[in-house]
Amino acid sequence: MTETNISNKGSYWGYAPAPESADHFKLKEQYGLFIGGKFVPAGSGKRFATINPANEKALAQIADAGEKDVDRAVKAARTAYEKVWRKMSGRERGKYLYRIARIIQERARELAVVESMDGGKPIRESRDVDIPLAAAHFFYHAGWADKLGYAFPGKTASPIGVAGQIIPWNFPLLMVAWKVAPALACGNTVVLKPAETTPLTALLFGEICQEAGLPDGVFNCITGAGSTGAALVKHPGLDKVAFTGSTDVGKAIQKSLAGRSTKLTLELGGKAANIIFEDAAIDQAVEGIINGIFFNQGHVCCAGSRLLVQESVEQEVVEKLKARMEHLIVGDPLDKNTDIGAINSKAQCERIRDYLKVGQDEGAELFQTKCPVPEKGYWVRPSFFTKVAQSHRIVQEEIFGPVLAIQSFRTLDEALEKANNTPYGLSGGVWTDKGAKIFKVTRGIKAGVIWANTFNKFDPSSPFGGYKESGYGREGGRHGLRPYVELS
Ligand code: NAP
Ligand code: MG
Repeated sequence: MTETNISNKGSYWGYAPAPESADHFKLKEQYGLFIGGKFVPAGSGKRFATINPANEKALAQIADAGEKDVDRAVKAARTAYEKVWRKMSGRERGKYLYRIARIIQERARELAVVESMDGGKPIRESRDVDIPLAAAHFFYHAGWADKLGYAFPGKTASPIGVAGQIIPWNFPLLMVAWKVAPALACGNTVVLKPAETTPLTALLFGEICQEAGLPDGVFNCITGAGSTGAALVKHPGLDKVAFTGSTDVGKAIQKSLAGRSTKLTLELGGKAANIIFEDAAIDQAVEGIINGIFFNQGHVCCAGSRLLVQESVEQEVVEKLKARMEHLIVGDPLDKNTDIGAINSKAQCERIRDYLKVGQDEGAELFQTKCPVPEKGYWVRPSFFTKVAQSHRIVQEEIFGPVLAIQSFRTLDEALEKANNTPYGLSGGVWTDKGAKIFKVTRGIKAGVIWANTFNKFDPSSPFGGYKESGYGREGGRHGLRPYVELS
């Protein structure tokens, strides 16, 4: 093996490149908006390119939806709702959801490769996490479609109407599934706006709806930038808005909906504390830290971006973490050995680099691994800060990149106080040998999801959502059905 074909030269040993092939499917040169069961161009004829952040090459041209297109899509969803979907029995609706789930499985390889090309995440994650979980969400909700009476005993659950759904770029197809599956299972129709940088799998999902024979207009997808999302929220024809994204845009949406009867759920940012006690299994905890912050380049709202480690084991944990991080491979998202792929966009890469500078200016100490990164594309080496103070911006603000802030604590109460000293409340983690400590921490942290001796585990039957500035409403599980039904 020569030096040049070893993909992780900075590590102790190398692996030969093992790229997943992209020759088993063909992307179209351009994609229209998916409205009323058909792909149609934007009224203005405008398009934008979606690029591969690992090599900065354009993958396809995407239609840029304006206000008139948004109106067309909402009207198509309304017609489908009134004429077909609301009248259909839960059992029949469930059949479509099962079909969609199976087609996602059949097209899994293609969807995983497109997800990694469009968004930059390692193929191992899109193949083993995103796509299987997206199918699982449709299977799970297909099961609920004819059993809503059991989800809400003693009540009659009716659909709400047309849902406008806006999603971010970190889990593109999985976010489609989280939003669309419960809405459709409960009898609502949808207009979805994917993120500007990752529209492809949402558009392929339009093809999947066609393949499944889903009635026209039940699912519609309008692509574009933030202004398309804003036009969707403003549209008076929506009965419900579901948004996942940044806290700032979430607040703007809340303002825009003020005074209207449109229902709203928000899944926003996070700054989770991952707490390691001295009695934890340290090697496993180190793996948990890695998974908590470096999974998906740290583009995870529930990432364990703050490490709180008990003072007596701080040095051991930091040393082991450094050693483990030096083995992480940053590079080609399509390579099966890659641990950390490309940062999703140039703007996000600059944002993370700004935070690396802010942290150092604030007086914290930066550690970055020495692994090589490709010349083209957007990359950030796995990084952490020590010597940080609770007031530092890198401790308080969401970075949304592979950057960890490490703090220490002496007592459980101090750990809880630091963990809760944040405007967010989405997730958290605890590592300890003692069950009693697990219960104290899970009760003591104000966050929607807390993992014990593991991190970043998801299941469609488990509700997910936040407190405080991380938003409100839940997705997944029985709780996730509630925002999509009226009860009488
Ligand atoms: P973002 O800027 O808020 O974008 C999210 C979505 O909203 C995108 O589709 C975006 O379109 C659209 N958008 C932008 N401005 C809008 C406006 N004024 N009105 C309506 N829609 C608008 O967030 P992001 O930077 O893409 O995503 C990262 C954020 O999402 C992080 O803060 C992360 O924590 C959060 N997140 C939360 C969860 C959760 O479940 N709690 C899950 C994933 C991500 P464009 O892409 O075209 O700008
Ligand atoms: Mg892209």
